[in-house]
Amino acid sequence: MLTEKTQKKIISKNNIAGKNVSVLGMARSGLAAAKLLKKAGANIFVSDNGSIQNLNNAIIELESSGIKYETGEHTKRILDADLLVVSPGIPSNLNIIREAEENGLTIISELELGSWYCRAQIVAVTGTNGKTTTTTLIGKILEHAGKPFKVGGNIGTAFCEFAQDIDENSIAVLEVSSFQLDFIHSFHPKISILLNITPDHLDRYDHNMDRYIAAKCRIFENQTTDDYLIYNDDDEETKEQVRRFASLHVKIIPFSVRKELEVGAFVKNNELILRINNKESNLLKIERIGIRGTHNLYNAMAAALAAKLSGIEDKIIKETLISFQGVEHRLEFVREINGIKFINDSKATNVDSVWYAIQAFNEPLILILGGRDKGNDYKKLDECVTRHVKTIIAIGESAQKVYDHFHEIKPVIMANSMEDAVKKGMLNASAGDIVLLSPACASFDWFKNYEHRGIVFKEIVMSIKN
Ligand code: ADP
Repeated sequence: MLTEKTQKKIISKNNIAGKNVSVLGMARSGLAAAKLLKKAGANIFVSDNGSIQNLNNAIIELESSGIKYETGEHTKRILDADLLVVSPGIPSNLNIIREAEENGLTIISELELGSWYCRAQIVAVTGTNGKTTTTTLIGKILEHAGKPFKVGGNIGTAFCEFAQDIDENSIAVLEVSSFQLDFIHSFHPKISILLNITPDHLDRYDHNMDRYIAAKCRIFENQTTDDYLIYNDDDEETKEQVRRFASLHVKIIPFSVRKELEVGAFVKNNELILRINNKESNLLKIERIGIRGTHNLYNAMAAALAAKLSGIEDKIIKETLISFQGVEHRLEFVREINGIKFINDSKATNVDSVWYAIQAFNEPLILILGGRDKGNDYKKLDECVTRHVKTIIAIGESAQKVYDHFHEIKPVIMANSMEDAVKKGMLNASAGDIVLLSPACASFDWFKNYEHRGIVFKEIVMSIKN
């Protein structure tokens, strides 16, 4: 039997006023959640285990809003609450979260909180790779259509920052990570998109792939007959999970580049075709799509379907697919010097995204690979490295691991800085080749984050004198 202490206190938007709420994390999402809750009349306490110096800006904001906080550690004071809101950056296996669970607190993510207040239709995009590209592209299509919308979540603006301000005629396009799905209860997108599921972030799921998969699939757990689930039918893992987990009621809309589908998006005679409600649109020849590579064709299909299901005209979708050039740090063209092209794919922080990056080019590649390893298994790259890559330049903490894995397949050259890597890349390339930074690793060994790594790479490339 539940004791009074462990009895779950059901907290919702309707009874939040006057309740004690703790928020874990003081970055963008945590701050936005705290401010939204404050407006709703709750008593807020924000906790972040980062140092006071690094949290200076957040502290100024909290103090000016009269919100209580702590830094440097997560103390038991957090437990003196009815509701705990967890920011996406906080690992869900943290002790204090377990204790909160044992104490009967309702635990939700910032995403769930935002959805309590959001009247707009939600389009939510998840997957291991392609979320930012697809979310941004959907936003561009809606912008071009003149439809009221807001893009946010994992990118740009935190959901709680705008959730309350958009009305029922708008669309909230949200990039959603598995961490944000860990603590949802009623989060309910009108359209959910599941792009792919491959191993990543397993450190946050106790190295348990099943738990990571289950978290991603929560995106559609509250969807009903009026809603849509768009998914990649070519990705075996995704397909299997959709079959296993999707409620029988949600409308399932697949996309595939390999086969014609009765419903969904597919390629026929080199044309991207959408088939919805027995109506077919021949959208455009796939070579006209602005972003390149098969992975981006998948992203384009998912975005086109989401837009079509939101009532956007084919012409608008087509024009945006042609004009959209992708997002910074994702297969981003930097410069051509003496016939050698330089491409920045710093956001490729796992093996799967590098596999797709390599497939995207016919030209011989000089591949800059390495960084902070997250337990990579490079075997998946062997075949495409053999076919498309001339030389590997190994960088970062995992340079030795990269060398050990690939040196019998292709020449591997060690570099001791990004500058060294670019120099050696250039030296080993000929006209017609591509020097591709697509590291398959996190960046925190040499850089602040992947954006920093990409910017440094681009600056070095731009400073080369020819
Ligand atoms: P996310 O937001 O999920 O990290 P991005 O759009 O930022 O996704 O892309 C991350 C990396 O994955 C980039 O290197 C990009 O080229 C690659 N990528 C993009 N879309 C896909 C996809 N559908 N499948 C595999 N890799 C992809």
